[in-house]
Amino acid sequence: MTHIGVLALQGDFAEHIGIFQRLGIAAREVRHPQELADLDGLVIPGGESTTVTRLISEFALLEPLRERAQDGFPLWGTCAGMIVLAQRADELAWPTLSALAITVRRNAFGRQVDSFETDLTVPALGQQPFHAVFIRAPIVEEVGDGVEVLAKLEDGKAVAVRQANALATAFHPELTEDHRFHRYFVDMVRAHKDGKA
Ligand code: GLN
Repeated sequence: MTHIGVLALQGDFAEHIGIFQRLGIAAREVRHPQELADLDGLVIPGGESTTVTRLISEFALLEPLRERAQDGFPLWGTCAGMIVLAQRADELAWPTLSALAITVRRNAFGRQVDSFETDLTVPALGQQPFHAVFIRAPIVEEVGDGVEVLAKLEDGKAVAVRQANALATAFHPELTEDHRFHRYFVDMVRAHKDGKA
């Protein structure tokens, strides 16, 4: 049995849990360090990265999550969660997990285009485009060594990246009916659990 946790300090954690459950995966809310013990992977959902990073520190989750990230524990951040996983992010008073060698800029699409939707080519998910919903999304400004870009916008900006067992999407796959990113993460988690990644 694969156990996936969804960080439930703030944001749209319920949507992720609903999708994993529909895929037959035991998914549950995580708020405290002891709840990490029997997990095989963790999702950090969209929300407000200022609030989430502050609560991660206040709930004593920063060190346990950083340690797990270093040990290759599977993590997936969506939107604000991408910011939480990044090595560098602007205008954040609280530390991030530094699980991905990326630099992100928050709310980077500007007020006029606060939210938008677009079809992305994501070769790792197959030929069919992925309909992506962006809401006050971050931009990946720099991608470091070892980071694989899974999807880009037409202007070449990376919006889905992976480095070892850390996955991040600037958009919200939990808000659409296409569950291929959730399946992709489940495959990452299973491969890690089976000792293959
Ligand atoms: N703008 C938010 C932030 O900076 C992210 C928005 C989202 O997760 N939908 O944290």
